[in-house]
Amino acid sequence: MNRPKRMLLENIAWARETAHADAQFFPRLAQGQSPKVLWIGCADSRVPAETVTNANPGDLFVHRNIANLFSPGDDNTMSVLEYAVRVLKVDHVIVCGHYGCGGVRASLLPQSSDLPHVNRRIAPLCALGEQHRKELDAFSELDARANRLAELNVLEQVRLLRQHAIVRDRDELPLVHGWIFGLHDGLIKVLASGYAEDSETHDAARASVTSLRAA
Ligand SMILES: [Zn+2]
Repeated sequence: MNRPKRMLLENIAWARETAHADAQFFPRLAQGQSPKVLWIGCADSRVPAETVTNANPGDLFVHRNIANLFSPGDDNTMSVLEYAVRVLKVDHVIVCGHYGCGGVRASLLPQSSDLPHVNRRIAPLCALGEQHRKELDAFSELDARANRLAELNVLEQVRLLRQHAIVRDRDELPLVHGWIFGLHDGLIKVLASGYAEDSETHDAARASVTSLRAA
């Protein structure tokens, strides 16, 4: 049996099992979506957002790309953010990177001439690596350097998102969080919490919205 055919058979099995467990599941799904979370993750097949957070269809609005980058110049990324924040009114934006990320690793290696699109996409990562070159050079192993850059990358995307007008301009600011997933144990580590007091940019943004309201 070819793979697509097997996937379609698995789909029938899943739909039947799901409907059997909860007869209202699909009627509810068909009524519309109101996810509370926008997930920006890596396209890597090993980090499926719903699976690793035990979430269901309808729970997460998802945008995935190579190395979980938030690219303000990219209409794909921006349309997802705009719709999630302004229409769906999500409460949380979660950037989730992962250790062992091929996209992050590639940004530390010479560019491949076969991959012009990938090269363009990860250019900001190469720049971020340069910016933190001293810290990264302290690791002798490439994998360790890439894992640290994966963490720095999540923090950078969180910073960019918190600064962006789409996030800042809403009355009820969505909280932006930075997470990283461990392939070796399946666990997520919090690198930046939208609730944490150290998120100065975000707190400043919230304070300015509060003072605007008070005025
Ligand atoms: Zn990745």
